[in-house]
Amino acid sequence: MSALLEVEDLQVAYGKVRAVKGISFSVGEGEIVTLIGTNGAGKTTTMRTLSGLLKPVSGTVVFDGKRLDGMRPHQVVTLGLAHSPEGRHIFPKMTIEENLLLGAYLRKDPGVAEDVQRAYDMFPVLGERRRQAAGTLSGGEQQMLAMGRALMCRPRLLLLDEPSMGLSPLMTQQIMRTVGALREDGMTILLVEQNAQAALALADQGHVMETGSLVLSGTGEELRHDEEVRKAYLGED
Ligand code: ATP
Repeated sequence: MSALLEVEDLQVAYGKVRAVKGISFSVGEGEIVTLIGTNGAGKTTTMRTLSGLLKPVSGTVVFDGKRLDGMRPHQVVTLGLAHSPEGRHIFPKMTIEENLLLGAYLRKDPGVAEDVQRAYDMFPVLGERRRQAAGTLSGGEQQMLAMGRALMCRPRLLLLDEPSMGLSPLMTQQIMRTVGALREDGMTILLVEQNAQAALALADQGHVMETGSLVLSGTGEELRHDEEVRKAYLGED
């Protein structure tokens, strides 16, 4: 059976600078796959390419049997791939509810109100403050809103870019628990993280990215116990 997402020899450049140098990986239905690596490795560039914000120089992206590379972002969303971006990009002056509804703007079905309620069930603080400006939320709460908004398009694959960025260890734990709960609900997730420990603890498969290439791959468990990974990414001697 082929995977839900198949990335083959993907190359992405900014002008002459090659940021992603021919990477291949796949994400199976119901899996959490993580890309870990230091700043500037090309993880965000990969995510932005998958969601149609950047065009690859070469390579293919196949999602559920369909070629995605070259599609516009709104077409990618319509096919079922949602992106919760690095930095969250919520709209601070709009209310929490308005931010959530933006995640559903391409939908024409009547289930949107039900899904807003589901986001509030998952993140009660968003429901309690639904009429407040999103900019009043803490960093961790804004991350919940970004995830809730991405889920509003009822995706089959969720791209989560650095959900723990700037968060306290406690809030990071809470966000990671939510990511695990989403998987328990059947969601398929591609997770980019600098917090390698937290990401590998959740992931079925992981890939270490360095200067545009995947240098090491394995199950989350294998990578957590890999000597090089422990030294380079888990802060161990
Ligand atoms: P971070 O966690 O810091 O976002 P990353 O692994 O996601 O790191 P990218 O943001 O994908 O890395 O960056 C990969 C490379 O591409 C880096 O060398 C970066 O400087 C470069 N780059 C990123 N965005 C641009 C851009 N808009 N124009 C030119 N170069 C860019």
